Amino acid sequence: MVHRGALALVLFGSWLAVQLVWAPRVARADETSATDKLRILYSTRFTFTDDGLPLVTVEIMSGRPTVHLRARGGITVRPDGAGGSAVDSDGGDAWTIAVEGARPAVLQDWTVVETLAPDDTGGVTAALARWKARGFEPRSFEIGTVFGVDGEVIDTRELRIAVDPVAAGKGAARAAEIARRFGVAASVQPELVRRPSGTIVARSGATTIRNPQVLWFQPRKPGETLTVADVPTGTGGSQLETGSEDRRYWGSVYVTLDHDGTLVAANAVAEDKLLAGLVPAEMYPDAPAAALEAQAIAARTELLQKIGRRNLTDPFLLCSTQQCQVYAGAGKEDPRTTRAVDATRGMVLLRDGGGLVDIRYSASCGGHGEDNDAIWGGEPDPSLRGRNDTASGGMSRITDDNLGAFLDGGGDAWCNRSRLGKSRFRWTETVPEAELSARVATEYPEVGRVKQLIARQRGASGRIGALAIQGDKASIVVSGDLHIRRLLGGLRSTLFEVKRRGDAFVIHGAGFGHGVGMCQMGAIGMAGAGKPYAQILAHYYRGSHLHRLY
Ligand SMILES: [Zn+2]
Repeated sequence: MVHRGALALVLFGSWLAVQLVWAPRVARADETSATDKLRILYSTRFTFTDDGLPLVTVEIMSGRPTVHLRARGGITVRPDGAGGSAVDSDGGDAWTIAVEGARPAVLQDWTVVETLAPDDTGGVTAALARWKARGFEPRSFEIGTVFGVDGEVIDTRELRIAVDPVAAGKGAARAAEIARRFGVAASVQPELVRRPSGTIVARSGATTIRNPQVLWFQPRKPGETLTVADVPTGTGGSQLETGSEDRRYWGSVYVTLDHDGTLVAANAVAEDKLLAGLVPAEMYPDAPAAALEAQAIAARTELLQKIGRRNLTDPFLLCSTQQCQVYAGAGKEDPRTTRAVDATRGMVLLRDGGGLVDIRYSASCGGHGEDNDAIWGGEPDPSLRGRNDTASGGMSRITDDNLGAFLDGGGDAWCNRSRLGKSRFRWTETVPEAELSARVATEYPEVGRVKQLIARQRGASGRIGALAIQGDKASIVVSGDLHIRRLLGGLRSTLFEVKRRGDAFVIHGAGFGHGVGMCQMGAIGMAGAGKPYAQILAHYYRGSHLHRLY
């Protein structure tokens, strides 16, 4: 089922050029000037492959003085990207890329003071007037994308009202100041005032190729990958990471300029190859097929949700860090996850009310899922309500009163079915009082010796939203799922109860992660019991339905 012909193209041009071309083909390369091609790298536009899949640009690494590439059978260099003229040289299969005459970008930071729905024109007019009256020259930023498919409108847009631009890097302090002064939630929105410029120089043997701003590289032989040398491992492309490895990529690799005038290498890759590289990092490839298929659909939905909302000043759509999506190229593929990506081609999860589901998942809910707002605050999301993770029902809400019984029981939960799941289902940590006190003191020296830990607020799953720490000198209340877990020594979740045993705190808990959205161990349990991916996704994301986009 392919809807190509029915795809309605809706473009919302803004000064950030945040838009999405939803068409199976783009204009032929020779109809697009080099300047336009560069603009496309910075926009949130993505094109489609001949095969009808989105062609997505993902960061490989940034901040490099040089980039080394190689491919078996040689590399074709294209100054103007796919379809443009090729520079084939005898040089061949290994290239070194550097930059000459680099000029850094100019960026500035705005303070976002209000966020509105894109169709709320009255609200926007009022917000602009409000901030003008406060002495600012506000402007609106539109981010995200919108497109319609067979009556389904997918809209990830929002309008941000921003004020008071300052030099890049100074935005956080300014935003904090404005937040305090006007009692609003403020965040930073970077703006690229001028793109970086310079000449990209590629050398192979006696051959040298120069091109302003960008050079594209593609394996000469079909079916080959490009190898990029010394890609930092760990989370993302930071040069501070000590480890690095050579990584292989499908599609093409382009080298362009980073904000500071150094080099960025990025991968222009078809959606299926991108997901094939991503999904094995998100779920064990030896999980049952239906669980891998559910994960593949979740990853595809997440990918489309992120496009146009991040990396707005970067020459790629997605970064490869933990905060974006973990992408390490072709070398991490597994035939089982690749099969799951292919079997669910084009399939995404939509809210019944319209739009893509805001995909969240964690390793194990521990027997009960959590509400999105209990973990991250904000509005309750109807697709992200915490519920009991069993076939039969069970406790509908975990409280201080039934927590003990829940921790002792819950054996029929989906996430307690597989061997892997059982190891994450229940856990106990014994922390000596002295150790815990020392840990708390690094952040809250006023507390003194920790005497008691008391849950002050629990979400639907019993996860602690606010924890009172009573010390011999002072008592404090800490909040935030990750914060509490880190403060207590890296707990697997905030779904726990605490007992004193002599000089130690015994923390008995359930699950691994925030518990919102899909429980991955539960998905594996459901798949193992013969449930298809549609049933798995319907269980974890309520008020949603599957839709094949392409
Ligand atoms: Zn679960």
